[in-house]
Amino acid sequence: MNAFTLKNGQLYAESVALSDIAARFGTPCYVYSRTALEAALDEYLQELMGVDALVCFAVKANGNLAILDVFSRLGAGFDIVSGGELKRVLAADGDPKKVVFSGVGKSREEMKLALEHNIFCFNVESAPELERLNEVAGVLGKKAPISLRVNPNVDPKTHPYISTGLKKNKFGVAYDDALSLYQHAVTLPNLEITGIDCHIGSQLLDPSPFAEALDKILILVDQLASNGIQLRHIDLGGGLGIRYKDEQEPTVKSYLQPLLTKLKGRGLKIILEPGRRLVGNAGVLLTKIEYLKPGEAKNFAIVDAAMNDLARPALYDAWHEIVPVQPRHDAPRTWEIVGPICETGDFIGHDRSLALKAGDLLAVLSAGAYGMTMSSNYNSRPRAAEVMVDGSIVHLIRHRETEEALYALESRLP
Ligand SMILES: *Cc1c(COP(=O)(O)O)cnc(C)c1O
Repeated sequence: MNAFTLKNGQLYAESVALSDIAARFGTPCYVYSRTALEAALDEYLQELMGVDALVCFAVKANGNLAILDVFSRLGAGFDIVSGGELKRVLAADGDPKKVVFSGVGKSREEMKLALEHNIFCFNVESAPELERLNEVAGVLGKKAPISLRVNPNVDPKTHPYISTGLKKNKFGVAYDDALSLYQHAVTLPNLEITGIDCHIGSQLLDPSPFAEALDKILILVDQLASNGIQLRHIDLGGGLGIRYKDEQEPTVKSYLQPLLTKLKGRGLKIILEPGRRLVGNAGVLLTKIEYLKPGEAKNFAIVDAAMNDLARPALYDAWHEIVPVQPRHDAPRTWEIVGPICETGDFIGHDRSLALKAGDLLAVLSAGAYGMTMSSNYNSRPRAAEVMVDGSIVHLIRHRETEEALYALESRLP
């Protein structure tokens, strides 16, 4: 589903011209399509019809309350990695009983908050975390529902920074330790073992590592059962990739069908934690060209969005398609699309063949995931506004930050 299309020589988000959004809300500005968000979740829900399953959107991909609201209204749960994300889910009226809590560094306060709200499950990532959770639950007089995040040591064939299921990664517990850790968890009075979990990486374009990981996890499930530990759910994490450039995007069907076949008849509830796949292509970053600076070696188009707004190019050398909002018919030149930040690494795109004039608007595509959530205030740049389009309706879902807000929590010396 592509909600961002050219109509009458202009780029639109659903029925709204992006130039109108820029005129109303300024730039840089993130623009999301509600229809695209719903269609992305629906692709999962269609495949899971009649299956005991819960899709938990990974909040870290995009935590705006309106985005959480869209998914929560369609029955989704949430995968969180901090107490802050849980508070967001609650603020968006998401159901805490559909929340799974991942992450290697859960603090006591975060555990307490999640226990008080009776979340669905803690995805425990280490032996000391088991002890701490048992202790915190005991103080509250509660039993914490847990799964162990097991590291199946499967190569997801993706960027090293976003592969998480290898032995050398900091995530999860080693496959070979899982059985004995479960046996230990049984002895802890304030824990209730409910499931097992794995998440092997992000932006996977080949779905076969998911099936490979599931095979390994199912061997453990059987070993646990023969040791008297019966699980109720299996969490297969997130990680399904999207098309940024010319990648072949796997369908949700091609990803899920082999997994569902393997899980058939096992009586395990299935949890999925997609992040990028639900939001990545449902958002663009709208930016304006401040200056054109043709040079001897390179031509620079300096735009008003920067690495603080969209970190992925600088951080992972990620490629985002950049398209003019009102394309010109002049001869194109090759441009470096860069931001105003004082870092050579501050770029949005290299070597783009485009016909540009100063003042033109550009849309950076596939910016809905890990865009706004990874943004910062580096160079004291207020964070961008966020807008959600729904047909011909435009909702401002986050005001542009003010400069004053950036230092409102600071004080001078007495
Ligand atoms: C980041 C993350 C996800 C989501 O990953 P995507 O690649 O965005 O689908 C899911 N589960 C866990 C534990 C994560 O850390």
